[in-house]
Amino acid sequence: MTALADILRKQITTTGPLTLAQYMSACLLHPKHGYYITQDAFGVDGDFTTAPEISQMFGEVVGLCIAQAWMDQGAPERFALVELGPGRGTLIADVMRATLQVPGFHTAATFHLVEASPRMRDLQGAALPAHTPVWHDTAESLPDDVPIFVIANEFFDALPIRQFQRDAKGWREVMVGLSGSGALQRGLSDAAPIDALQHRLNNTKPGALIETCAHGTAVVDALARRIATQGGMALIIDYGGWRSDGDTFQAVRAHRSVDPFAEPGRADLTAHVDFEALAHAATLAGCEASQLTPQGVFLERLGITPRAQGLAKGLRGSSLDAHVSAHRRLTHPDEMGSLFKVLGLYPGNESPPPGLDP
Ligand code: SAH
Repeated sequence: MTALADILRKQITTTGPLTLAQYMSACLLHPKHGYYITQDAFGVDGDFTTAPEISQMFGEVVGLCIAQAWMDQGAPERFALVELGPGRGTLIADVMRATLQVPGFHTAATFHLVEASPRMRDLQGAALPAHTPVWHDTAESLPDDVPIFVIANEFFDALPIRQFQRDAKGWREVMVGLSGSGALQRGLSDAAPIDALQHRLNNTKPGALIETCAHGTAVVDALARRIATQGGMALIIDYGGWRSDGDTFQAVRAHRSVDPFAEPGRADLTAHVDFEALAHAATLAGCEASQLTPQGVFLERLGITPRAQGLAKGLRGSSLDAHVSAHRRLTHPDEMGSLFKVLGLYPGNESPPPGLDP
């Protein structure tokens, strides 16, 4: 039993069951016991590995995409380079290294990192020794006077979701309550009609479960309003699909799936990203959303294979094997190539970011 489990049990006893979003927020970001506050989750020794931690090629390709989009929009003299949830800072450091030769790009950029965890902020500062980033608690405080070029890799999957299960009359919300012996457990609220989910009644059947992420659509709204009026673009890369359908809430610890209610604060909690909801929020805010594109296709279109072949020339033995398998992991449909998708947001008078279709 964790200290956070005790806190949540007391809270449920006094004020009643929590929504999944309240539970997820506490587990991930509780100021003292939250997962992102206390753990360094990344890499082989951590709980999971992300694309930039697998190979430098990921950040290099993303960097060239951003730099090309910046040039396509007339190479503005000042712009904000924004990352949401930068983790260890590996991706943005690779982006900066890959764009060193792009004339004017580095001098035009200021750095804005949206990051909730003080521990992660320290790691990010150390990964960018030559720059002085500005950290933000939320996307709401990002600059509103210059174009913003944004990257978010595995950020949206960490945002708190709510789950609703359909019955004949309406929707029952998945709640976190207590069992007879006082353990945290999943339960269901009474059925109620929910206005925001009425449109899903015609494409679901009783028993179906769907997920919503109000935090995710609010972040996209903040980005899209700026991109539509100030210029720039956003690349949202994550696992998920077009429209939420089914239970994707999961807990991972030491690269294995675990019970999300067993040890709150000790496991990473995520859910698949509903890209339809994000694209819809972007268009409502006046911005264009690209076609949703598999990560493997995106990386191939931007030349990851010639880059991989170039790097392979300098490698031998086990380093070469690791490099070949990293390329496969990022691009192959059986690995991250098709589960992970890329959504681009861009202004109506511009083309989508390179590698993506309108
Ligand atoms: N993009 C990185 C890390 C992904 S993990 C990579 O690809 O390796 C998720 C990151 O988002 C972590 O840095 C975490 O601290 C941060 N984060 C999670 N929830 C957040 C929230 N609600 N607001 C701001 N940052 C958050």
